[in-house]
Amino acid sequence: MSEGVVVVGASMGGLRLAESLRRFGYTGPVRIFGNEGHPPYNRPPLSKDLLSAAEIDFAEVAFPQRSATADVEWNLSAEAVTADLSNQHITISGGEQVSFEHLIIATGLRSKRLGFESFPGERHALRSFEDAKALRSKLGVGSKIVIVGSGFIACEVAATATKLGCEVHIVSPSKSPMDRALGEKLSAVVKLRLEAQGITFHMQATVIELIGSNRLEAVALSDGSTVRCDSLVEAIGSEANCEWLAGNDLDITDGLLCDGSLRAVRASGGSWPNVFGVGDVARFPNPIFDATPRRIEHWNIPTESAKFVGQQIAASYNSIEATVEVFRPLPSFWSDQFDMHIFGLGMSYLADESKLVHGDISGDCVFEFTREGVLVGVVGIGHRSVVQNYRSALER
Ligand SMILES: Cc1cc2nc3c(=O)[nH]c(=O)nc-3n(C[C@H](O)[C@H](O)[C@H](O)COP(=O)(O)OP(=O)(O)OC[C@H]3O[C@@H](n4cnc5c(N)ncnc54)[C@H](O)[C@@H]3O)c2cc1C
Repeated sequence: MSEGVVVVGASMGGLRLAESLRRFGYTGPVRIFGNEGHPPYNRPPLSKDLLSAAEIDFAEVAFPQRSATADVEWNLSAEAVTADLSNQHITISGGEQVSFEHLIIATGLRSKRLGFESFPGERHALRSFEDAKALRSKLGVGSKIVIVGSGFIACEVAATATKLGCEVHIVSPSKSPMDRALGEKLSAVVKLRLEAQGITFHMQATVIELIGSNRLEAVALSDGSTVRCDSLVEAIGSEANCEWLAGNDLDITDGLLCDGSLRAVRASGGSWPNVFGVGDVARFPNPIFDATPRRIEHWNIPTESAKFVGQQIAASYNSIEATVEVFRPLPSFWSDQFDMHIFGLGMSYLADESKLVHGDISGDCVFEFTREGVLVGVVGIGHRSVVQNYRSALER
């Protein structure tokens, strides 16, 4: 019997991969292994609508399953613990070996944590449905929340918690929130807008101590101040889930290094022909921008990478050429905070200059981002259709 396709990671990337295989005509076995105990679900609402709901209901975020993938085998509490790429098998917790012809690595990311391991009190991070459930139970009128980090997830949680009546403090070593993606000028005005909604910022500061005996009562900051709090949310970035791949001649220093066709690169040279990275975990070069491999933590990447890889694998089984040989997705992201809808295309964080091209910086507006005079990103607050119109210019 054919061993077919094995996917590790039963989330968005894994689901989209299965859909793509069937769509492009692969009819063989597809076995998916996940470790969350949940079928695939949508993560963006975890910091937005779902986190503000009175009752947290998994059905609100579960992805619908299409009939085309009804015969896919789902193993939802089966963590891959090792892989042997030369002998084409992985090992699942419990010891079972699973053989593959093609292996897809779609294991995504986990939240980075602050340290302070010996502190006994409860702390939060936000990556999974279970994380959102635990955090939701701490958000209510009058709760004091400290959020460490000032990226998108931090600011979305801050907005949601503020709307629920919490007193929210953001602590971050950055100068202003989301500055990597928004650039200095735009992030400075976004900070003012978030402050106007009631969020307090402690920028260019870090948490140096957690205070409290059995539960958290306050945090001490590097600027000498102390902030009282009931709950702490650590939103300081992510790290890739790929340690289980160690010992296979791969580069897993910051996600799984992949080539331009998303095949896993061999550290000794060349690529594994039948092992692919999909979604947040993959670090790949994008010829739209340059040859530097990067991970991209945006929602459109699992879908587009899964479509690309599924097409290549299906073509190999059906002995036909895949039409697109190099993966060159245009990253896109959005974020909703209070009345602000932020939408971006490209990689604004590569830019050395930004300029306002549309609207008013204190309200809805659009910024272009250039590197050495070449457009690399566009970000808008509101004006989504204006940003969308840049798609082909950026793709060129
Ligand atoms: C709170 C939050 C809000 C977000 N909001 C936005 C947004 O507004 N806009 C946007 O563009 N993007 C947003 N994102 C990012 C987007 O959700 C991700 O890009 C997307 O979820 C990545 O999908 P993935 O399948 O690659 O990885 P993941 O969704 O991380 O899935 C990987 C899966 O693999 C499992 N796994 C890991 N290791 C193993 C193993 N060894 N064995 C088996 N299974 C394993 C994991 O538990 C997980 O289930 C948000 C993310 C979060 C967490």
